[in-house]
Amino acid sequence: MDRAAPPPPQVDFAVVGGGILGLAVARELLNRNPGASLAVLEAEDRLAAHQTSHSSGVIHAGVYYEPGSLRAKLCVEGAAALTAYCDERSIPCRRSGKLIVATDEVELDRLDRLEDRARQNGVAGLARLDATEIASIEPAAAGLSALHSPNTAVVDFADVAFAFADDVERAGGSIHTSAKVTSVRAGHRSGAGRLAIETPRGSVMATQAVFCGGLQSDRLGRMSGGNPDPRIVPIRGGYLKVRSGREDMVRGNLYPVPDPDLPFLGAHLTRGLDGSLLIGPTAMLAGARDAYRLAKVRPRDLLDTASWPGTWRLVRRHTGAAFREIHHSVSARSLVKEAQRLVPGLRLEDVEPGPAGVRAQALGRDGKLIEDFLVERTEHAVHVRNAPSPAATSCLALARLIADEVAG
Ligand SMILES: Cc1cc2nc3c(=O)[nH]c(=O)nc-3n(C[C@H](O)[C@H](O)[C@H](O)COP(=O)(O)OP(=O)(O)OC[C@H]3O[C@@H](n4cnc5c(N)ncnc54)[C@H](O)[C@@H]3O)c2cc1C
Repeated sequence: MDRAAPPPPQVDFAVVGGGILGLAVARELLNRNPGASLAVLEAEDRLAAHQTSHSSGVIHAGVYYEPGSLRAKLCVEGAAALTAYCDERSIPCRRSGKLIVATDEVELDRLDRLEDRARQNGVAGLARLDATEIASIEPAAAGLSALHSPNTAVVDFADVAFAFADDVERAGGSIHTSAKVTSVRAGHRSGAGRLAIETPRGSVMATQAVFCGGLQSDRLGRMSGGNPDPRIVPIRGGYLKVRSGREDMVRGNLYPVPDPDLPFLGAHLTRGLDGSLLIGPTAMLAGARDAYRLAKVRPRDLLDTASWPGTWRLVRRHTGAAFREIHHSVSARSLVKEAQRLVPGLRLEDVEPGPAGVRAQALGRDGKLIEDFLVERTEHAVHVRNAPSPAATSCLALARLIADEVAG
């Protein structure tokens, strides 16, 4: 299929965003509506260019999330559906398991609460381990107690997105890259009660549209008359890479017990599909929504973050954590020290700079980070306004929820 071709002038469904979520939604809509016309519009010249290809690549089991939340429900459902899809499509995926390790007394109490949460969420195969049992699974790890999730897996989410794109094209949908949506007009102003979507490659009239714009989802929402609250703040996550020859010190995935006040999981050690071992990600407010380089700044992005009242309320509430994360982001020594709590034998000379990703995190005007997935309706459209981790894990289940929303 020619993904450089202009989009069709008229479709039943337009899906904006060619990341893992947009492609999962496009696939689900075509599964439910065989023969419908559908176009995926992606701003970049390739698919999966942003969060989808800049993550830890972990298929989470559903341990962390508030029982009853969308994240809890859709992570457990989505992980099962995604691992089955990978098996069916022969996409490399390794069930390497995960240990969440408590290294001091305060964390023991938090680990109890996490275990309780995980059991309420229906996470399968969980076990609580003592120090000796930790060493039998991860000989280099140290801790007082750990929660073991054997079904946690690693995958390359970009591979999954590419497989979804093939499914979409095989079902008759079309995919258009370098088709950045620049304006959206709804209702009578668009003519014929549809949505008029403009891109530099031409305009599309869509009966219904779904917006999965990741780091741009607040701007796309506002463009369509959606709520200006919440705003997306870009949170950069940098990794260190363990040098070749030393990766074997970790076999699977090692995580700390997360700080319950923060929505991130804490810097962890992840053994990728290719055998590489990454430490991270850090969590620092970024100067650009594509700050893959630490120093990258885009004035418009910076202004949007700095002018949002929620940003300052957030920073005031978490000043200590913000400074700690800045320190981890700029100093390998500091991040290694954090990781040494889990793997005492790790040395500064074992690491080199690694990749980075930028999270799209929705932040309310009141300074509260939106933790759960958030979907908003506007005229003829459904907008995904917050799809943080584990949205890649949950993509198939989240796509079903969004398709239900489209069906009204
Ligand atoms: C550092 C990091 C680690 C993570 N680790 C994990 C993990 O281990 N497990 C997990 O489940 N999740 C993880 N996540 C979260 C996960 O990556 C995201 O939740 C998921 O990729 C979101 O997918 P998406 O399709 O919504 O977003 P994206 O992949 O960002 O895709 C959005 C797409 O929309 C396009 N777009 C934007 N604006 C426009 C426009 N105007 N017109 C057309 N197209 C547009 C973009 O170019 C992009 O391709 C991690 C994220 C990061 C950053």
